Amino acid sequence: MSNDSPGRKRSFTNWLKPKKSRQTLRKRGAESLMSASTTTLASVHTSYYRPSYEHEPVPPLPIAPLQAHREKYRDATSRIDTQLGENRDYTAILHALSLQETFDANDVRRTGRDNRPPGDKAIASLSWQLWRCITDYLDPKSTVCLALASRTLYRRLGRRPFTMLELPENYGYKIEFLNLLDVYLPHHLLCFPCGKYHRRTQEGQEKLQSARVLNPLFACPNERNMVRRPPRHRIAHGRNIPFAFVQLTTRAHRFSPRYGIPADSLGRRWKHDEWTLATRYYVHEGRLLMRVISQRFAPCGLPPSGKRLLLYSRDDYWPFFSACAHWRDGELMNVCKCALDHVPVPRDTGGLQGIEGKFKDAIRPGTRSDNSFGIPSQCSRCQPMRRCPFCPTEYQIEIKLAEDRRDPRAVSFRHALVVTRWSDLGDGSTPSLSQEWAACNGETDEYDSFKRLGKRAISGIFESAFTHDTIPGRRIISMNPDNKRGGEKRNDWY
Ligand SMILES: [Zn+2]
Ligand SMILES: [Zn+2]
Ligand SMILES: [Zn+2]
Repeated sequence: MSNDSPGRKRSFTNWLKPKKSRQTLRKRGAESLMSASTTTLASVHTSYYRPSYEHEPVPPLPIAPLQAHREKYRDATSRIDTQLGENRDYTAILHALSLQETFDANDVRRTGRDNRPPGDKAIASLSWQLWRCITDYLDPKSTVCLALASRTLYRRLGRRPFTMLELPENYGYKIEFLNLLDVYLPHHLLCFPCGKYHRRTQEGQEKLQSARVLNPLFACPNERNMVRRPPRHRIAHGRNIPFAFVQLTTRAHRFSPRYGIPADSLGRRWKHDEWTLATRYYVHEGRLLMRVISQRFAPCGLPPSGKRLLLYSRDDYWPFFSACAHWRDGELMNVCKCALDHVPVPRDTGGLQGIEGKFKDAIRPGTRSDNSFGIPSQCSRCQPMRRCPFCPTEYQIEIKLAEDRRDPRAVSFRHALVVTRWSDLGDGSTPSLSQEWAACNGETDEYDSFKRLGKRAISGIFESAFTHDTIPGRRIISMNPDNKRGGEKRNDWY
């Protein structure tokens, strides 16, 4: 009677017996039986009996129809641009570049020796009085650069160019000159109140902090001097970005990472009086771009006073969300108020109207007349993106459904006002040389953003750097179509 016969109770001794399948594997050739006592790993491997079916080719596993479809078209679609549907043939692109690239004489490094005779004798042949007359036609910065060009020129021009540059009225020229030395000083940072380079005390560890925290990046005698404050740009209440951080990120991009910090490290997220704000930074073509998303849950049917309470702070009558220095001139606040009007009003559930609504839903279940949880549509006034004409700043104002996480036990969605701002904070050279920085702070009237930026939007550049597919697809119109000026002096801004 076999062990496997049904009905027989399996005893403990049977468990210790080798299995049937193991017995079949023991079948070896005659030679292996002869040398059974001296079995080694190698001999087992070589003398292992392979059944004949193992040599047969393995048929491919059947795959799902969708996977088969993807496999078939993977090669054909891998180079298709998801936005334009164009076939990005890299070979064709490289060939096009090599043909269209113009020859730039400045790119060629002059490695050959300059065989001209030294000009020192010619320079020395002119008297110092004559050289002084020549420098009278130059600005103080260029004079100092000329004096530093060679030893002979320094002897002819003397200390005068340097004392001229030190004069308080030539402060702007001095900053421009010091900015030229930036590439030679990775461990230092140019301090604008002092007009000096200071040694960085937190090299590589610099962190952007709240405006309430004194966050010195170097030991500076003017650190607490409220009259000569370092330049900074206001983001929102209690938050600003000092110019030193624009310097650090753009330097790191321009020269090498040891000159500063990466732009990603500046991103922050904070809450202020029911508003949630999040910042992100990106360096594009040597300029620091900033995006601030400000969000707040918005109730429906607000009266004008309610909208003002929601938008403006009682402390200083500035908006809670991030805005450029020109927010009072133009349509920005009116557009926000218009967007608040589009928050859907929930259906009246009491009385006869409630019964009517329920009846309508019962007879037409697909089309709910109550759209209080739908995506609201905005009008032609508040739907387009807005660009400030006086500075490189763009705004997008939306009403979105957002998750309310105040109650962790319940999942609830409410409508929120979302104001997204994109700004170009400039190349971090100096606060006056960097046109974008000066414009964002309202310190220059010469900046025309529509002329400068043209058709390429800051929002488009910024978003395309992070996402491949979702670039804001709205048209951009002026935030201030009438080119109003004056800010608080006019009485229509509130
Ligand atoms: Zn200083
Ligand atoms: Zn509207
Ligand atoms: Zn502006």
